[in-house]
Amino acid sequence: MIYADYNATAPLRPEAREAMIAALEVGANPSSVHGPGRKARKILETARMQVASAISAIPQDIVFTSGGTEAIALAIHGVVRQLENRCTLLVSSIEHEAAAKNAGYSGAAVQSVYVTNTGQADLKDLSERLAGWDADKHGTPVLVLMLANNETGVIQPVAEAASMVRAAGGLTICDAVQGLGKIPLNVSLLGVDYLALSAHKAGGPQGAGALWLRSGAPLKASLFGGGQERSLRSGTENLAGLAGFGAAAEASIADLSKFEELAKLRDNMETRLKAEGDVTVFGEGAPRLPNTSNFAYGGFRAETQVMAMDLAGIAVSSGSACSSGKVKRSLVLSAMGADDALAESAIRTSFGWRSTPEDFDRTADVWLKALHQRKTKETA
Ligand code: PLP
Repeated sequence: MIYADYNATAPLRPEAREAMIAALEVGANPSSVHGPGRKARKILETARMQVASAISAIPQDIVFTSGGTEAIALAIHGVVRQLENRCTLLVSSIEHEAAAKNAGYSGAAVQSVYVTNTGQADLKDLSERLAGWDADKHGTPVLVLMLANNETGVIQPVAEAASMVRAAGGLTICDAVQGLGKIPLNVSLLGVDYLALSAHKAGGPQGAGALWLRSGAPLKASLFGGGQERSLRSGTENLAGLAGFGAAAEASIADLSKFEELAKLRDNMETRLKAEGDVTVFGEGAPRLPNTSNFAYGGFRAETQVMAMDLAGIAVSSGSACSSGKVKRSLVLSAMGADDALAESAIRTSFGWRSTPEDFDRTADVWLKALHQRKTKETA
């Protein structure tokens, strides 16, 4: 089996598995003051340090959550509530549903920021919106911009956008779920106020994540109770999950050079797919995550391709897979100007820490064979 769906969930790294088993064996609450509790606390704080270090932050600014979605929701609702709704969310039109839907449900006004054809947030559009900003009418501008898109891998101009928003007196929430462990991350260089992370995209377990927030950034809690996580996220922490998160974050940072190598393999695969299969590669003209390739041959439906690949033992996802497993047309590709036939034909391959050069070759072989069979059927 070739696994090429790391952007959905990366296989668990051995370091994470080991840390999780050790944490499960402690069997105590990190808030308890006795010996076993202190042992659990030590594990939790080690994980906090590992996650902070992966984004060049300090551990005190990390709030652990149950995953990326919760971290994004905490940031969006927490800011809107702390600002008592006197704000407008500027949400890029390619955000993950975790950001787009929480923005929609936050009660704040929302404006959509356009993207260019290459899949990057349009800084001209953002700067025009900010130039004409009427603070009495719109309140504080709060930009919601992901670091890298889950479908196309396109890396967003977060530092430039955040600096424009800061100059306008606003705040930036960044969903960096797809960035961790794939590209270097430094919160100071990004200049954002909130950064959301998820363990399972970096080789940690599902159900663990974190929100980093700049010291002093406004945020109201959404969950109330025992006062864990500086009272910003009550509830006993998922110790084993977070231990796995910390270990995966550390291991993936040590392994970043492997991801750089993936870019070369990905580029070679795309060169072949374009030459022999005449595909369109989405986001090709923009900086992209090194592991991701989203491509389409117009009219060759994504479901058919995913099934053909699966039968040949290759796990990929349709360019627009959603959590229900159904395929719907990708809003990301549509926002980039792709027509319906092309958007419905897109598939996403995403590789990672366990991928080999042969995985790329075999993926191209199988896909080209499936295309050839389809063309033969069409002309028969
Ligand atoms: N943001 C992006 C860009 C994602 O790709 C995902 C997961 O698919 C999420 C947020 C949600 O993260 P989680 O699955 O940890 O809730």
